[in-house]
This record gives sequence, structure tokens and C-alpha cells, in this order.
Amino acid sequence: MARRMFVAGNWKMHGTRADVGQITAISIDCETLKQTDVALCVPSTLITRAVAAAPGFTIGAQDVHHESKGAFTGSVSAEMVRDAGAKLTIVGHSERREGLGETNEDVRAKAELAINMGMRVILCVGESLKVRETGQALRHVEEQLKASLPDMVTAPLHLSIAYEPIWAIGTGKVAEVGDIAAMHNRIRNALEQTYGEGHSSIRILYGGSVKGSNAREIFTTEGVDGALVGGASLTAEDFMPIVEAAE
Ligand code: PEP
Repeated sequence: MARRMFVAGNWKMHGTRADVGQITAISIDCETLKQTDVALCVPSTLITRAVAAAPGFTIGAQDVHHESKGAFTGSVSAEMVRDAGAKLTIVGHSERREGLGETNEDVRAKAELAINMGMRVILCVGESLKVRETGQALRHVEEQLKASLPDMVTAPLHLSIAYEPIWAIGTGKVAEVGDIAAMHNRIRNALEQTYGEGHSSIRILYGGSVKGSNAREIFTTEGVDGALVGGASLTAEDFMPIVEAAE
């Protein structure tokens, strides 16, 4: 099945009202795209403003809580970010898995809650440098993925997977294209084992120091359906060359 390319930006903990103009600029630049879907996952505080500033453009959240509601001070639920206007959410980013101790079970619960709310999900997986250096990356990511995938018949229609080697995030280091192809192939097989034919609608993105200068090579790597972009998604000037490389 031919899949459209998908480039999503992750603003992480960056952005205030003063930066919303960049979202408008990116959304306008994306209006003429023919074969690429684009989204920006902004801080929760900016979702409503971003939706207003970029009508028709896909705004996402960066996380949702693994419970639907309750006494979780400081957290936001899938229902809340959807209510604010988010059409999708990232779950399982390594900065939350590693930094905040989120488990595969948490990630699966978040994905299921978001999908039940009618949202799309970008589910992140990836290995540490230590795991890569000990030759365990393929096995590790396959296990992490299988334990994190939502157990729902409708899941494939709403899911993208982002393969993000932790050591490549924000470091300027990019995985070798051969390693990216091998990992995406392993992820594709795991998705087929889990969802059967449904796997073919799921896009597998690469993430980790994607820039305008390396995007084309990454996008022409076998099995790559797009990218999750952190630092280079904050301005139209940095982000649009990546999007254009996907077209
Ligand atoms: C990310 O945060 O998902 C990411 C890939 O970051 P960067 O592009 O900055 O490496």
C-alpha cells in the first residue's frame, strides 16, 4: 500500500504566544503540498492559539496522561487536549520514558485513551546508545514496540510509529541509513504480526536530528514514511526544507 509521507514537528518545551506566527507561516507554506501530511505538536498552553492561528492545519499535543481523569496535578488528559483542538498526540517520547519513568504499559494506555477520543497517535520507540553498542537494538525496539502497541482493532487507522534512537535526539548524530532501514523493516514486521493486514496503513517515521541537509537521504531510505522533528521544527525557515524534501 502506498502511504503518504508524514512530517510532524515536536516543539517540546519551547514556544509562547510570540512564536505562534511561525505556526501560521508553516501552515501557509504547507497549503500547496500534494503528497505530504504535516503536523505540529506544540505545548498544551499553545494548542488553542495554534489552532486559531492555523485553521485547517493539524495541531497535536506532545503527551496525554494514561488515566482519563483524576487527581493528577499538572497533567492533561486526552479529552482535554482534544477539547483544546489537538487532532493527534505523541505518546512514549524517550524524554518521558527515560526522564519520567513511563512504562510500555503507560504508553499503551495513553495511546488507547487518545484513539478512543478520536485522535491520531504518534507512538515513539527507540534504543539507548548502550543498547545499540551491545548489538541489541533491533530486539530491544521490537519488544518495546510490541508491549506499547494499543490492543484495539481500530488502532492501525490512527497510528504512526516514530523510531527515534535516543542517542540521535538533539545531538546532531543521525543513525546510518542501513540501520534505519533494518529497524524500520523490523518494526514493519512487528506491526504485521500484531495487526495483520491493517499494518499497511501505519506510517513509520524516523526521528533524531533530522534537518534540511539530511532529510532527503532519510526519506529515500527503504521503509521510511516521514519524520518526527524536534529542534528543526521551531521555525518555518528550518522546518520547510524538511517538509519539501518529503514532497
Ligand atoms: C524529537 O524530539 O522527537 C527529536 C527527534 O528531536 P531532534 O529532531 O531535535 O533530534
